[in-house]
Amino acid sequence: YVAKQRNLGVFPYDPSLDTHSPERLSLLGDLRRALHDDELFLQYQPKVSLSTGEVCGAEALLRWAHPDRGLVPPDAFVPLAENTGLIGPLTRRVLDLALAQVRRWAEQGRPLQISVNLSARNLLDDRLDTTVAGLLAEHGVAPQLLKLEVTESAIMADPARAAELLRRLHARGIAIAIDDFGAGYTSLGQLKNLPVSELKVDRSFVTTMQSDSSDSLIVRSVIELSHNLGLSAVAEGVEDAETLDSLTAYSCDVAQGYHLSRPMAADAFDAWRAAWPGLPPTPSRITAVVA
Ligand code: C2E
Ligand code: MG
Ligand code: MG
Ligand code: MG
Repeated sequence: YVAKQRNLGVFPYDPSLDTHSPERLSLLGDLRRALHDDELFLQYQPKVSLSTGEVCGAEALLRWAHPDRGLVPPDAFVPLAENTGLIGPLTRRVLDLALAQVRRWAEQGRPLQISVNLSARNLLDDRLDTTVAGLLAEHGVAPQLLKLEVTESAIMADPARAAELLRRLHARGIAIAIDDFGAGYTSLGQLKNLPVSELKVDRSFVTTMQSDSSDSLIVRSVIELSHNLGLSAVAEGVEDAETLDSLTAYSCDVAQGYHLSRPMAADAFDAWRAAWPGLPPTPSRITAVVA
């Protein structure tokens, strides 16, 4: 089984992901149950426009409220789901929860675009576009309110096939973002041929850009590349005001990170959004004056 994974050349062997270890087997059984028993839920992290200071979207981040283990972070079980065929149902559940929330926001008169993370394996599922279209219809949500985030490494697993699937999703009006950009190795030629509207700079560069000049240079390069290709640049992992100011000065389009807000459950997100005062004005940011 592991040999099969390795032959794909994309999932290097990691003993912690060995589905035969007792610990993993028990977590796997638990995950099957979690899908049944509603133990999975989403938190939402706001994305804020650096040109208007307004909330312009939210990223849905998966959480598992395990009855014994407590809150299990996605890094601890998404890879397991990927290696065991559970990723299809898992992604479907995430989309279902996310689109139900988008529908509620729209009904409250506060529509907001949601970003949902896909796994590498999801890009090998030729029916994904049909599945997503079905869920959009079921929830009565316009495709423009959904953005799918894919990482560079997920695309690299089978670039031609991924590009084909992404084109079909894009043709249905769904937006595509490249997540963790800069950490992988997408060629510029490939990027040009992908129906992408957003590059998310990997947070490993953003969190250290104030202290590490090469990280700062990488962030600025990705912003410039985005703009040269007509894409929007998003910085994730914005943890302090100085980073936010630098990103604004570099004409980054959107910021996301703990400095703005941690990911929150839906209720907390709504309260946070209602109270959001906007960002302070700068020479490049004309903010609306609320009387
Ligand atoms: P990601 O998509 O790059 O998501 C951003 C991660 O950075 C999230 O971690 C978020 O909580 C964290 N983050 C946000 N702002 C900051 C900050 O200012 N500082 C720091 N240090 N971290 C920040 P999280 O929620 O633990 O998710 C980790 C990864 O798990 C995600 O990375 C994504 O790759 C994956 N993931 C999360 N939800 C899903 C899902 O529904 N489906 C799939 N396939 N993967 C998911
Ligand atoms: Mg993401
Ligand atoms: Mg990311
Ligand atoms: Mg990541």
